[in-house]
Amino acid sequence: MGLIYQNYSLDHLNTFHLSARASYFALIRQPAEMEQLAREDLFREQPKLILGGGSNLLLTGNFNGLVIRSGIQGLECVDETDESVWIRVGSGMEWDELVAWAVAHDWGGLENLSAIPGDVGAAPVQNIGAYGAEAKDMIERVEGFDFNSKTWKTFEAGECEFDYRNSIFKKKFKNEFLVSQVTFRLSKAPHSLLTHYGNLEEELQKTGTRSLAEMRRIITDIRRLKLPDIHTTGNAGSFFKNPVVSLVQADQLRDAYPNMPAYPAGDRQVKLSAAWLIDQSGLKGYTMGRAATHTQQPLVLINTGGATGEEIWKLAEYIREFVFDRYGVMLEPEVNVY
Ligand SMILES: Cc1cc2nc3c(=O)[nH]c(=O)nc-3n(C[C@H](O)[C@H](O)[C@H](O)COP(=O)(O)OP(=O)(O)OC[C@H]3O[C@@H](n4cnc5c(N)ncnc54)[C@H](O)[C@@H]3O)c2cc1C
Repeated sequence: MGLIYQNYSLDHLNTFHLSARASYFALIRQPAEMEQLAREDLFREQPKLILGGGSNLLLTGNFNGLVIRSGIQGLECVDETDESVWIRVGSGMEWDELVAWAVAHDWGGLENLSAIPGDVGAAPVQNIGAYGAEAKDMIERVEGFDFNSKTWKTFEAGECEFDYRNSIFKKKFKNEFLVSQVTFRLSKAPHSLLTHYGNLEEELQKTGTRSLAEMRRIITDIRRLKLPDIHTTGNAGSFFKNPVVSLVQADQLRDAYPNMPAYPAGDRQVKLSAAWLIDQSGLKGYTMGRAATHTQQPLVLINTGGATGEEIWKLAEYIREFVFDRYGVMLEPEVNVY
């Protein structure tokens, strides 16, 4: 099959800027190419890794197997009412390009998810979220190719098992389901903007307008100030998830650390701030070899230049052990580690 590359460099496909190779690599631009790939012997024989833009990925070495990336494009309006519009998008489109397009059409819902790196296909897998919004709130259905049955399947939103940075595609179907298209339901004006997070409302009021475009601009500006630029500093955004602990453990911690941020997270569960735990452990800006935590956002691990994936992982393990010894809370990576 002409689409398969051997000994393929993944250097440009991970935002940590790590050097790594895949034994085999296939870019799927049309659904028919996926069916063709699935008929190949190596598809059956090789371990598989589905990759988007690699912005939520840590490669600790070469990938000995087949990496599959969707390059499926396409953007169509499939339904419309007075209040909403439904758009079906190819998984290979860049996420932020989609957000910009929706905002330009004055279709609301995605604006708080502005400036998140990566492809559309990863959005339902990760259930990406930021500034009080989550992709699941706009996703209507997810289509794709099931590697086991070798058939195309459609998951309605209710079947996707969306959770905090999680979904059925990251659990049961991990690396076994290539998302080909995602359908989003977007709102028409008048919009109800989500401004409860941080100082969004205050910033919006300063502008004197309440448009999707202003929301996108404010969020993009805040992110640019707070997060390292992936083009100059290798990173994968938040490295760890915010841990969820029992109410009992949270109360014990709150007694010892009254200033600790804590948020209700369902049935007798409490969500803590991973950034706060790392910061309070004195690990903000901490450097280990060529890996470090970011000086402004300790939840972001960075490649200070020429680091290996193993070096980044060593720092991550050090942080996990340090935080666990101090707070009894084990941080789990948000980033996919291979
Ligand atoms: C600076 C920075 C800021 C970030 N900010 C945020 C943020 O605010 N909120 C947030 O949620 N995330 C954030 N992230 C993380 C990341 O951008 C998202 O998780 C994004 O959705 C990953 O997209 P990707 O295409 O790079 O996916 P990858 O990293 O390549 O893959 C991520 C996961 O999705 C799977 N996947 C990718 N494409 C497909 C497909 N077509 N079919 C099936 N599975 C697929 C992969 O197997 C993997 O499990 C940030 C990252 C960076 C570097």
